Order: sequence, then structure tokens, then C-alpha cells
Amino acid sequence: MSEERVVDKKAGEEKMAKVVSLCKRRGFIFPSSEIYGGLRSCYDYGPLGAELKKNVMAEWWRSVVYEREDIVGIDASIMMHPRVWEASGHVAGFQDPLVDCKNCKERFRADKAPKVEKGTEVEYVEGGKRGGKKLHGKAERGYVCPVCGSADLSEERMFNLMFRTNLGPVEAADSTIYLRPETAQAMFVQFENVQSTMSMKVPFGIAQAGKSFRNEVTVEHFIFRSVEFEQMEIEFFCEPGTQGTWMDHWTSERIGWYRRYLNRKDDVRLRRHEKDELAHYADDCYDLEYFFPWGWDELEGIASRTDYDLRKHSEYSGKKLSYFDQNATDPETGKPGRRYVPYVIEPSAGATRSVLMFLCDAYDEEPATEPGGEGRVVLRLHPRLAPIKAAVFPLVKKDGLPEAARDIVKRFFRAGINARYDEQHSIGKRYRRHDEAGTPYCLTIDGQTKEDGTVTIRDRDTMKQERIRIDDAVDVVRKRLDLGA
Ligand SMILES: [Zn+2]
Repeated sequence: MSEERVVDKKAGEEKMAKVVSLCKRRGFIFPSSEIYGGLRSCYDYGPLGAELKKNVMAEWWRSVVYEREDIVGIDASIMMHPRVWEASGHVAGFQDPLVDCKNCKERFRADKAPKVEKGTEVEYVEGGKRGGKKLHGKAERGYVCPVCGSADLSEERMFNLMFRTNLGPVEAADSTIYLRPETAQAMFVQFENVQSTMSMKVPFGIAQAGKSFRNEVTVEHFIFRSVEFEQMEIEFFCEPGTQGTWMDHWTSERIGWYRRYLNRKDDVRLRRHEKDELAHYADDCYDLEYFFPWGWDELEGIASRTDYDLRKHSEYSGKKLSYFDQNATDPETGKPGRRYVPYVIEPSAGATRSVLMFLCDAYDEEPATEPGGEGRVVLRLHPRLAPIKAAVFPLVKKDGLPEAARDIVKRFFRAGINARYDEQHSIGKRYRRHDEAGTPYCLTIDGQTKEDGTVTIRDRDTMKQERIRIDDAVDVVRKRLDLGA
């Protein structure tokens, strides 16, 4: 936490532009409804992006659900009873103070605006234009317009971030429901059902991944902050008093998870919240941050939320949400068995943000290795995250090579490994295309294949090629996919 890394703003913007351009060019991410001019802050995952996002979420699920005995997963409805959001505080508290700049007409979040000492004399240009009349004002509010620096601002107004709609055909007041702004609440609401049907014993957790929606005022940095996004959240229930131990467990577990897949392990860090930063119900909280091209920014929050959420839902629903530990002793009566409301640790990760992080981390440009040669763009995605694991090429489109290549692709599919047949353009161009797609292994069928039943396998990162037997191809790739996982 001591080291301060300096952001090169211009280099960061260039890097982002390159990542965005690659995403478009290679079918990772497109603007939503692009032929209609796009829709602000909405994105579509193309063929490779859909695979990448699925792989990121599958790796998370594998590490928190399959590889642990103490966590089970659920998949809840996006729409929930409106009382859920009253209990969670979202209806009342999930709001941003908004301000309009009277000078340049920008609408922005007051809490995110550049801060200045109250009463500071500020100078800005009329209309927020590049050249023009200089105006002066006093920053009475303690902040200025983020675009033009003006202190001539409207009043702050509250704005609910939840998307509202109606359940049923009639728009009546009591039919108002919301699209969930987070996946967390269903895990509290279903605490009892999950605990009893699966006979879970505290400490245990519930995991869920899926879409959430926030009508954000400020959308920025491509898919980093968008109104529709995906989350990967865990509610880990533990005995009151043990939350510190579990906080240690989860912070190290989660940062370890990111590092397993990143090329630059030091680009993630944990930042502990100061006491005055904590929400009133939380007794500890960490931000897990990544060094994005624009600087450190949040990937995941890990909060120790005490028994706040279960208590709130008990209060609003009238259903008691608690846990009975048969093996404990009641501290008051001294009798066997103890009932209590569990505390919770909540590791709440952004899946969409993780996708952007892995793209930024993987993007690399390599200069030509020999004079007169061509450089390349290569996406050094961890093999387990790569959309396509193996590309199979026939060297030429004749002599039975395409058939042999297609046969290998089929073998990969039967083994559950995503492979792709590709015969278009020269072999060099095919390698470059798959370097940009992040495909870790390319197999080429050539004249020798027919003679001795071998193919070449090329490694994306080292560009080294070796010959392996066709019959070993699936096993070789499968083994390499497990490397480092
Ligand atoms: Zn302004």
C-alpha cells in the first residue's frame, strides 16, 4: 500500500483505445445496437467476448463452489419483491446527488466532482469552450464542474439508481418493481431455504453470479462502469466473533484468485478502508484494486457486514432468519444448543470489470524479431480464460489436409475443449489472427502429417513450434490448460 504508482494519462488513453479497437476487430465487444448509432453505456459481447466472460465466471464458480465444501451456488430471479429493496436500504439510500453545470451544461455526481477548498476563487471559460471569455466565481459548494471547472452550479438533486418497471400489464403504484442493483440480496433472503435444504452448517457461504442494473449517471472507461453489468458475489456466514479470521481468509483467497490468471501479479492490491470510510453496519472492508490504464480502481469489495442484512430482512419480512448450532452451548442458559444470527463476510466482485482487467493485462505488442519482419499484437490471456483453446489449420486447402484438420477439431470438441478450424489466408496471417484472439495453441496439418501422423503445435507466447502425434494432441493441450490453474 506504500508504493504510489504514477499514471501516464496519455499512454493510458492510448492503451485503452487499442484494447477497445482490438475488442471490436476480433469480435470480443461491440457497442450495443451499433447500426442504430449505439446505446449509451451498453455493450454486446461478440463470439470471443461471450466465451471470455463465460470462462472468467466459470473459473470463479469453480474456485468458490466446486472446490469448496462450505459454499453452494444459487441462481435467483433478477426481479424481487419490492420490500427487499426497502429492507436493504436501496429504495431510500441508493441515491446519488446530481448537479448541473450552468456554464457548460454537464450533469455530474456531486460526490465525484473535483474538490476545492470552500470559497476558493476559480477561473473558467464561458460555455466551457476552448477559447473565450474568462469568468470568475467562488466555489461555495467545495467542488467545481469536472468538465469546465465552473462554480456556477445548480442545486444538488437526488436520483435513484434502480431501474423501475411494473409487474403485470397495469401500471399501478403497488405493481412497481425494480431490476436488482446487486445480486447479494437474494442470498440473504434465501438464507433459510439454502441452509436447511442443503443441511449447511455455519460457517458456510452462498454464491451467485449474474446480471445487475444501475442507472448510473457517470458511465466511464468502456465496460468498467456501465448500467448493465455482471457480478460474482459470495455471502459467507460465520459465527459472531470469527469474522476477523474469515476476513483474513477471504482477502488472501480472492487476491490469490486474480493473481493466478494475471501476467502482472503486482497489478492487483488490497486497500483497507479507513474507519470513517466504513458503512455504518460494516466493521471492516477492503477494496481489491487493479492498476487499470487510468490508475488504481476497484475490482471487488470485501466487506464484513456483521448481522445487519439478515436482521433487516427478519424485521421487514417478519420471518426469523437465524441459525441453530446443536453442538454449541447456550451462553445464557448453559443448555446444549445455541441460536444466533450469523455474521457475514461479502466478497463482491465485478465480472464485467474482471473481463476488462484481463483484456488490459493480456494486451501486448511485440516488435519484429528479425530485421524487415513484422511485429505482432498478442493477447496473452491465461489458457483457461482464452476463448478458443486450440486453432487447427491445414497448411494448404488440398491433399486431404482440410479433412485431417477437421477431424482433429472434432476430437477436441468431444473432449470438451473449444477448438476452431481455420483455412483462410496464409498461415502467417492465421497465426497473427489467433495471437490477437488470445488462442494459446495453433496446430498445423502439413505434408508430413500423412506420412507419420504428426502435426506441429505452436505456442502463442513463445511462438515455438514442435511436432507431436495427432493421437496425443488432445492430451497435450489438456495438460497445458491445467498448467498454473
Ligand atoms: Zn461545466
